[in-house]
Amino acid sequence: MSVALITGASQGIGACIARRLAKDGFDVAINHYPSEGDKEKAEAVAEECRALGVKAEIFAADVSKMEDCEAMVKAVKETMGSIEALVNNAGITKDKLLARMAEEDYDAVIAVNQKSIFNMLKQTCPVMMKQKYGRIVNVSSVAGLYGNPGQINYSASKAAIIGMTKTIAKEYGKKNIVCNAVAPGLIRTPMTDVLSDEVKAKMLEAVAMKRYGEPEEIASVVSFLVSEDCSYVTGQVIEISGGLSM
Ligand code: NAP
Repeated sequence: MSVALITGASQGIGACIARRLAKDGFDVAINHYPSEGDKEKAEAVAEECRALGVKAEIFAADVSKMEDCEAMVKAVKETMGSIEALVNNAGITKDKLLARMAEEDYDAVIAVNQKSIFNMLKQTCPVMMKQKYGRIVNVSSVAGLYGNPGQINYSASKAAIIGMTKTIAKEYGKKNIVCNAVAPGLIRTPMTDVLSDEVKAKMLEAVAMKRYGEPEEIASVVSFLVSEDCSYVTGQVIEISGGLSM
């Protein structure tokens, strides 16, 4: 059975990806931030995955910390046997216009959204190389493609992910490891629930389909990108935004 490791999978898009990959037949390793609340939510996601007939285990790790990622990847290998697919999904926002943004908020978002990708790739690529097989998906954002007022930290981290994705595609292509990114638009999750109605309405004006995306609509694209069928697509960024940028 193939194993998929999904970061930040206790809620939102990550939880939805875990459920979808379990439905696709993957055993799933569900990463959650090391807190009691996240552990409880991750365990509920794992239970839903097990009900689909696959193995599902939860792994606590703050993905912004290299030592946590190292311990987690080791534990996943020991418990689940291999890692065929990695979905780097964990992310945070700390939005403010440049004039008001504190340096700590810039650094925190870069650490969780960007450095975590380096940490997870550093630990997981050697495993995939030994297997001579790997599928990696990094969750970027339309903010990384086009920028967004109030998100200089978030946009920087999500743009960096695109460069990292293309670099890994080039470094590991000959090892039969493909690496792609998805760039979601406005998706209905706890991350966007906190936006004001006014901000949401303004954002929707630019969306051709005039509606939010659902986490399932991200998961279905990821489902292809981690499948065996995704054998000659690498270094690509798939925008999933209901037509934001045409
Ligand atoms: P979400 O509901 O807030 O989920 C993000 C998950 O990541 C949470 O479970 C969170 O745990 C976890 N996480 C945060 N920091 C972590 C850390 N250091 N280590 C491990 N886990 C950590 O957000 P979402 O909307 O599902 O977002 C998922 C991904 O999609 C993110 O990368 C986000 O940037 C991206 N994205 C979302 C949208 C959107 O419209 N929703 C659009 C474009 C891109 P806590 O709850 O404890 O923080």
